[in-house]
Amino acid sequence: MTEHYQHRARKRFGQNFLHDAGVIHRILRAIYARPTERLLEIGPGQGALTEGLLASGAHLDVVELDLDLIPLLKHKFDSNPNFTLHQGDALKFDFASLNPPPHSLRVVGNLPYNISTPLIFHLLEHASLIRDMHFMLQKEVVERLAATPGGGDWGRLSIMVQYHCQVEHLFNVGSGAFKPAPKVDSAIVRLVPHETLPHPAKDHRQLERVVREAFNQRRKTLRNTLKALLSSDAIEAANVDGSLRPEQLDLAAFVRLADKLCEQTSAE
Ligand code: SAM
Repeated sequence: MTEHYQHRARKRFGQNFLHDAGVIHRILRAIYARPTERLLEIGPGQGALTEGLLASGAHLDVVELDLDLIPLLKHKFDSNPNFTLHQGDALKFDFASLNPPPHSLRVVGNLPYNISTPLIFHLLEHASLIRDMHFMLQKEVVERLAATPGGGDWGRLSIMVQYHCQVEHLFNVGSGAFKPAPKVDSAIVRLVPHETLPHPAKDHRQLERVVREAFNQRRKTLRNTLKALLSSDAIEAANVDGSLRPEQLDLAAFVRLADKLCEQTSAE
């Protein structure tokens, strides 16, 4: 790289650049991109993953917010006809504008940690376009995404993401793999949107409502936390034990509660 392109990592853009070749290689192997595929990378930074993704021969769109990184990305990759650069905020990016066939888009990113959760929710609005997503996230967030009922990690994030996707915690990455090194450990997660939802809710907004309300006070029983939405009888009628705490309920049970709420709302 020439002097001209030296870049100082910016905290406000969550910039921790990958520099460990072994880790980069392991991520690329997990993604295993093929020439005919459509890839989308969020936050390419200085191109640590971009280079290997393009080497697969796949078509790659990238979305980068930091204006200062644009010349560097152009310099490195613009000569490749498979590369398309979008400068802007991934949280506002219209993924449908890429026009991918259903279930085809493969999304990749070593995400800025401050936007990772809202970005995943934004992407899930377009879940039907996406084949899979591979993200580097804070390890703790990956543990919540991949959690199972009964433990402290099981909550709103696990349920709403598992409603749409199969989740796989692939491997952990120590902070030494980045420059500058973040204060937390990281992990790679694979999210694969279901082509057919295993537990479809009648109205997915009611599912969000029930889950949010239930986990507002996760130490209380469902009968208590859901009082404003569902009576004890309605909870029993959904085949859910109201004396349980929210973290003891699986996704299917939350969907039954949401459907009960739906019936109740339409009867009003
Ligand atoms: N992919 C590079 C790597 O692995 O070395 C950079 C990873 S760095 C953790 C996150 C990248 O996301 C930075 O390049 C940052 O500028 C970019 N970024 C931050 N917020 C963004 C946003 N809202 N939309 C798109 N890119 C963003």
